[in-house]
Amino acid sequence: NSNRPDKDREVNVQVLLRCRPLSDDEQRSNVPKVITCNEHKREVTVLQSLANKQVDRVFTFDKVFGPKAQQRSIYDQAIAPVVNEVLEGFNCTVFAYGQTGTGKTYTMEGGMRNKGGELPAEAGVIPRAIRQIFDTLEAQNADYSVKVTFLELYNEEITDLLAPEDSSKNCDERQKKPISLMEDGKGCVIVRGLEEEAVYSANEIYNLLERGAAKRRTADTLLNKRSSRSHSVFTITIHVKEANVGDEELIKCGKLNLVDLAGSENISRSGAREGRAREAGEINKSLLTLGRVINTLVEHSAHIPYRDSKLTRLLRESLGGKTKTCIIATIAQSARCLEETLSTLDYAHRAK
Ligand code: ADP
Ligand code: MG
Repeated sequence: NSNRPDKDREVNVQVLLRCRPLSDDEQRSNVPKVITCNEHKREVTVLQSLANKQVDRVFTFDKVFGPKAQQRSIYDQAIAPVVNEVLEGFNCTVFAYGQTGTGKTYTMEGGMRNKGGELPAEAGVIPRAIRQIFDTLEAQNADYSVKVTFLELYNEEITDLLAPEDSSKNCDERQKKPISLMEDGKGCVIVRGLEEEAVYSANEIYNLLERGAAKRRTADTLLNKRSSRSHSVFTITIHVKEANVGDEELIKCGKLNLVDLAGSENISRSGAREGRAREAGEINKSLLTLGRVINTLVEHSAHIPYRDSKLTRLLRESLGGKTKTCIIATIAQSARCLEETLSTLDYAHRAK
């Protein structure tokens, strides 16, 4: 039916906005707040006055979470439905996008303390997703396996955050052991050399996250704030046995990618800096390409430029088609962040 407009086709990209509360420092120094959130109307307002005239800007998203929003309510409202899709056998991706310091890692990982089996209130998306997956599969009495990988993408190079430390090598070399992306005959991307860890209970997740965090801390001291310029990708793969057909097993497979993106300031400020040109350029490549891929998906364009960056190649099977994508854009309320906040709102809004 040629009359049917494109927008009738289902778009499986959901964009959420989360605004973090002022930090203690920001409160002490009385920085003005320039953001107000209306969760009910799903609106974020940026308060701006130019030449004594109030020129506020309003942005609408699929969901808006203000500074008081709890980790749990974000998970229950926005992420739990995505994880249900994964349990049904689909591939899905959740991104955290925003300026460094606005709560991407807090949203994805959250407080790292594990209070003996119970999820702490500060637990983020990753531990909550693992918990939901185990709870659901256990309740179904399913025959299943859960495996995770955790990698970092920096300068278009992949580092395994779960690989065992090799003490025979010095730090520099250890950080530089790149892992390669390969494509099989069917166009599926395989990450070669990546440690895949079987997980047997939800509580193990904290050890895995701590291992990854420890590895990134080492990298930070070596390469000054590497973590704000790198992407981390935590992938959970679920296999569930559905039935026996003859002597073959029927298996349902779902994959969830939880991506903590490089700070979005790497896009806007990188151009001019010479010394960091290559580094910034490469990070731009993945972050900018991701933006373009999501735009083409939303617009239903025929050509989707997956191949233009490592991040989008890596996530190719989990972006577009029958997958669900959720972008959590994070911002701060402070006037000091205004410029970056506006660019985050623009980027996230274009993804809708
Ligand atoms: P990013 O990963 O985007 O650089 P972080 O997640 O490290 O930012 O957050 C920066 C700081 O702000 C951390 O100390 C974090 O605990 C705190 N923070 C972020 N979001 C929230 C929130 N919604 N509530 C309370 N504290 C937060
Ligand atoms: Mg972070």
